[in-house]
Amino acid sequence: MRCRATKRRWSVSRGCCPTPTVCSTGPDAPREETTTVAAPLPNTQQAMRRRNLSLVLHAVAARGPLSRAAVAGEVGLTRAAVSTLVDELIRDGLLVELGPSRPGTVGRPGSALQLDERGPAGLGAEIGVDRLAVCAVDLRGRIRARTEIAAANRDRAPEPVLGQLADLVRTVAADAEGAGLRPVGLTVAVPGLVARGSSLVVRAPNLGWESVDIGPGLRAELPDLPLTVGNEANLGALAELWRGGHDPELRDFVHVSAEIGIGAAVVLDGRLLRGTRGFAGELGHVPVRPEGPECPCGGRGCLERYAGEEAVLRASGLSPEQAAAEHPGPGGRIALLAVRAAAGDRRVRRALRDAGAALGIALAGTVNLLDPQKVVLGGALTPLAPWLLPVLERELGRRVADPARPGRETVTVSRLGAEGPLLGAAHSVVRAVLDDPAAFKDPGAAVGARGNRAVDTARRRS
Ligand SMILES: [Zn+2]
Repeated sequence: MRCRATKRRWSVSRGCCPTPTVCSTGPDAPREETTTVAAPLPNTQQAMRRRNLSLVLHAVAARGPLSRAAVAGEVGLTRAAVSTLVDELIRDGLLVELGPSRPGTVGRPGSALQLDERGPAGLGAEIGVDRLAVCAVDLRGRIRARTEIAAANRDRAPEPVLGQLADLVRTVAADAEGAGLRPVGLTVAVPGLVARGSSLVVRAPNLGWESVDIGPGLRAELPDLPLTVGNEANLGALAELWRGGHDPELRDFVHVSAEIGIGAAVVLDGRLLRGTRGFAGELGHVPVRPEGPECPCGGRGCLERYAGEEAVLRASGLSPEQAAAEHPGPGGRIALLAVRAAAGDRRVRRALRDAGAALGIALAGTVNLLDPQKVVLGGALTPLAPWLLPVLERELGRRVADPARPGRETVTVSRLGAEGPLLGAAHSVVRAVLDDPAAFKDPGAAVGARGNRAVDTARRRS
């Protein structure tokens, strides 16, 4: 059986459709209102309409601009049904028609549909050890406003950090509104464990935060923005999935990222593996040498003790404190290591080789356990990839059970670099809009400028 939306082999879990939770062919499939199955309950009809709205929006997001006929072909609904859904999405300020898409062809030309660049915007924020950053992305995934400040957040009390972050969010939200956008939500990326489905930062060792619920403070400062809080490694992996520019067939991968600590996130079947409590992916505390040095987590010989930024600085003969003072700000110490390695500093190169070996040992267990298509090296690790990769790949090649799978074919380097968590945070809001557009209606979309535009569009079609 093939998915009517994508023509791929249908699977319950594989997410063959643009909307992972909905398949136009499977048993949970949204159907046209004219389907011959038993009359659904009113709430079921409403749920079906909402899913179909999402299908249309996802199709345009993935392959737009598209004509109504092309959308109908993509989602497997009749053209009449799609037209009704499209009209609603235009009225709600989520889609626009760009005008005739095939001028000069025989018959009435279709009008190309595109996501509305003046529609809802997702706000993403990142609380880093060295910086605070906020950005706004539109429905098409473009960054429309962004700001960043250097901030020494290590061991800083949460209240001033959150106050400063809220100021930046207000600035970016105002810039987005000035560009005609409508911010509809905020996701904050933090470098620590976040309890699943909550805003509670259970532990962020590099900030010195334990059991800090950042929700109440931020909601008090930003009462109009729905708030989500996520782990930076998880959000970096989602950015990789949505915006990494990979082959769409890349659905299973392990994303490894680093700031001060080392985190990983596992994406299986296009979905993030969160774990029972939301703590999956703590690669930095996988033991590499069981009798190795003690780790603040209570274990011994954890990966972070060999491949974390401070460990690499020390192994390079550099003081982390002095390096932080002389190279402040985001990425300063990583840039220092990269410059020295590029200049041929033997001690730095040896430290990076050892870090790559430790990463390879830790990741070999993960690859053997999960059999992912790829390991993606992202975050602050990317500038050091030229020196980490050769040894990492060699260790993987030695230790992965499948002899036909050389390490170098398993590892790839992210193009998003240190921007991943921030982009993932903002895009997670946009994905929520695409997944349920009816929940993000613009109350003013049917009147004023948007109303006029809808009328103009209707005239063009008639
Ligand atoms: Zn540890």
